[in-house]
Amino acid sequence: MSKHYQIVVVGGGPAGLAAAIKASQSAGVSVLLIEREARLGGILKQCIHDGFGVVRFGEKLSGPEYAERFIKQLAQTGVTVSLFSYVTRMRRGDKGFDITYVCKDGVQNVTCDKIILATGCRERTRNAIFINGDRCAGVYTAGAAQNLVNILGVMPGKRVVILGSGDIGLIMARRLTLEGAKVIGVYEAKPTPSGLTRNIHQCLHDFDIPLHLSSTVTRVFGTNRLESVEISKVDDKMRPIEGTQTTVECDCLVLAVGLIPENELARELGVPLDNRTKGAIVDQNCQTLADGVYACGNALHVNDLVDYVSESGETAGGAAVAESKRKLVPVTLQGKLLYAVPQRLDVNSDLSKVIMYFRASDELSQQRLTVSVGGKTAFTKVYNKLLPPEMERITLDLTGVDLTDGEVTVKLEDK
Ligand SMILES: Cc1cc2nc3c(=O)[nH]c(=O)nc-3n(C[C@H](O)[C@H](O)[C@H](O)COP(=O)(O)OP(=O)(O)OC[C@H]3O[C@@H](n4cnc5c(N)ncnc54)[C@H](O)[C@@H]3O)c2cc1C
Repeated sequence: MSKHYQIVVVGGGPAGLAAAIKASQSAGVSVLLIEREARLGGILKQCIHDGFGVVRFGEKLSGPEYAERFIKQLAQTGVTVSLFSYVTRMRRGDKGFDITYVCKDGVQNVTCDKIILATGCRERTRNAIFINGDRCAGVYTAGAAQNLVNILGVMPGKRVVILGSGDIGLIMARRLTLEGAKVIGVYEAKPTPSGLTRNIHQCLHDFDIPLHLSSTVTRVFGTNRLESVEISKVDDKMRPIEGTQTTVECDCLVLAVGLIPENELARELGVPLDNRTKGAIVDQNCQTLADGVYACGNALHVNDLVDYVSESGETAGGAAVAESKRKLVPVTLQGKLLYAVPQRLDVNSDLSKVIMYFRASDELSQQRLTVSVGGKTAFTKVYNKLLPPEMERITLDLTGVDLTDGEVTVKLEDK
């Protein structure tokens, strides 16, 4: 007979760790944490630069140091941890949910009342962005290159082109330079950099690494190993401009071209996803539209600060142990918003501290964010500057606001 747990958490990164710790704090709750890798910590294991935990701990920790604090805390709880265990299937069953995972003992089945999905995200690859050319070695996603350098101690190349100026691309540009590679340049299709301003300075300017905006890699060349890449300028719709091609000799192309929430298991459970975030649609408790299924961390939406990943894990873990009969109202977006999470509010839950994350759709200045219910303003804040790479977080107190029939609207507009 399958073993039964109240809560199963899938993924042992910062989101899953925080969710499991929080859930275990309720007396008598049985929690199983399933992680496919050999160690807990998720992607933080390979992020050896500092800057993690400033919001939560007021310190600049490395990724492994940040993860270690939660791993130590987890060891003090009664959470059962199953490492080297890959969840392959989930579905609703007679006892809540049936979960199948593969581990060194073979295929295992457990049942549970609630599921917390903390599966992180995956990287976009060369195929996902349609780079043509030879099928040679030397083309890596940034995560794979980071894993080679920081975990395996192997250099992915000596002359490196980086495509994508998001934080991961910038951090890899610095990391590979520090390890002795020549980073020829960071190329970015957009007219503005995608990473945090501090990373542009600390990772590129401080190391004299050029940043080429409105440019992309359109082709790779190499018989066995990468020998060169073709760079093209792009127009305002990010289409390559004919006649602008140049060739850059290199033996390594690092692709830092975006992360996509990992939601194969969510799809299997029939969890509706948000086209804007590519993660689940959730309420303020991180519960998806499928009752009993929660999502947090990068599986929910791509975060730039791990502190908020842990925060959403705690929200999911705390809520999953509570019983609630939900009544959901939709949150409608207006104006220049890329996305906002949560996309629903449960009016039967606590509304005194609703945490909402959002991103602006463009680089904007002098903006006003307004949250209104039934046409009445419930929250307003003015922002001098908003950048799409920098996620914003607000806390709403909606106690006493009548949400029963009122539509909740979040609007970003010129001040
Ligand atoms: C390549 C890469 C580099 C990054 N570098 C930085 C950085 O330098 N600085 C920064 O601030 N942020 C960085 N981030 C962002 C970082 O991902 C988040 O801050 C945070 O680590 C996300 O936490 P998470 O728990 O949601 O996901 P993750 O840390 O990705 O953890 C998800 C966990 O789920 C497990 N998992 C997934 N599917 C299954 C399954 N089916 N069965 C069992 N286990 C499963 C995975 O093995 C993994 O351990 C990076 C992200 C990526 C992808």
